[in-house]
Amino acid sequence: MEPEAEVIEYQAFSKRYGRREAPAVEGLTLSVKDGEILGLVGLNGAGKTTMLRAAAGLIYPSSGNIRLNGHDIVREKIHASASTGIVPEFPNFEPTARSLDLLEYLGGYNGLGGDGFPALSQALLARVGLAGCERRRVGTFSQGMKKRFALAAALLAKPRNLLLDEILNGLDPGGIRFVRRLLLELKAEGCAILLSSHILSEVESVADRIAVIHHGRLLECIPLKEIYASREVRLRLTIRNPGPDIARYLSTVGEVHNEGNTFTVSQPRQEVWQVNHELVQRGAEVAEIRTETEDLEGYFFRTIGEEL
Ligand code: ATP
Repeated sequence: MEPEAEVIEYQAFSKRYGRREAPAVEGLTLSVKDGEILGLVGLNGAGKTTMLRAAAGLIYPSSGNIRLNGHDIVREKIHASASTGIVPEFPNFEPTARSLDLLEYLGGYNGLGGDGFPALSQALLARVGLAGCERRRVGTFSQGMKKRFALAAALLAKPRNLLLDEILNGLDPGGIRFVRRLLLELKAEGCAILLSSHILSEVESVADRIAVIHHGRLLECIPLKEIYASREVRLRLTIRNPGPDIARYLSTVGEVHNEGNTFTVSQPRQEVWQVNHELVQRGAEVAEIRTETEDLEGYFFRTIGEEL
C-alpha cells in the first residue's frame, strides 16, 4: 500500500516575534494528510494563528520548517503557496469592490482567467452561500459573509491544502452548518484542512484529529476516535438513604466521590443495570442514576491540566 501523503508538515517549527519575547510556538512537529481535517484547539494566545500564518508564508519560522506538498514555505514559496489557500481570522478586502469583480481580480492575481472564469467565480460564490450577492460591495458584508467570501477567494486556485483561522467564528447557526458541510465536501475531494476554532463542539463535528496547543507547545495530536475511546465516563447517583454499606459497594465499582445524597463514580467497572441491582439488594432507595461522558471540552481542559 502507498504511504499516505503528508501535505501540511511542520518540522520542529518555532516562532519568536522578538528576541526578548517568549516563543509564540516552540518545537512543533505535526502533519495533516490528504483528505484529513485537523482541528487546532488552544486558549487565546496559544499559538494557533502563528502556526497558520507561518504555513501561509506570511511570517517566517525562527527555526524549523514547514512543507506544503513537499515544498518548503521559505525556500520554495511559490510552489508551496500554489497548493495552499488561507482564510485569516479577520479577512480584509477592498470595501468598495463588488464581490464578483473582486473575485475575478483575485483570480487574475492567481494566474487564472479566460472565458470560463466569470462562471467559475459565480459558482464559487454560490458554493460558499453567497449566490445573489455578486453585485454587492464587500464592505457591506457582515462578518460571517466576509468569512464566506474569504473562503471563496481561498478556493479560487483549487488548493490541495486549506488553512482556516476561526472560520466558524461570526457565522450564524445556518452559516456554521453550511460551512461544516462544505468542509466535509472539501475533505472528501482530498483537501488537507488545518482548522483552528474555539467552538469545540464544531471542531468535534468535522475533525478527524485534534491538536491541543498550549503556551506554544503541542501537547497532544490524537484521532478523535482515540479521544472517544479514552474519555472519562462517570455515574452520578442520587440515593435517598445513603449508608456505609452502599458507600463500600460503590467504592468497588470505581473511584467514588460522595456529597450528601449524591455519589459520583469515575470510570465504573460495572453496567448501570448491575449497579442499580446491587444497590437495591442493599436496600438503597435509588432516586436517579445518570451516565456522564466527557466531551471534547472536558478532554481539552484535562489535557491542558485545568479542571472545568
Ligand atoms: P487566539 O485564540 O487569541 O487567536 P492564538 O492561539 O491564535 O490566539 P497567536 O495569535 O498565535 O495565538 O499568538 C501567540 C503568541 O504570540 C501570543 O503571546 C501573542 O501575544 C504573540 N503574538 C502574536 N502575534 C504577534 C506579533 N505580531 N508580534 C508580537 N507578538 C505576537
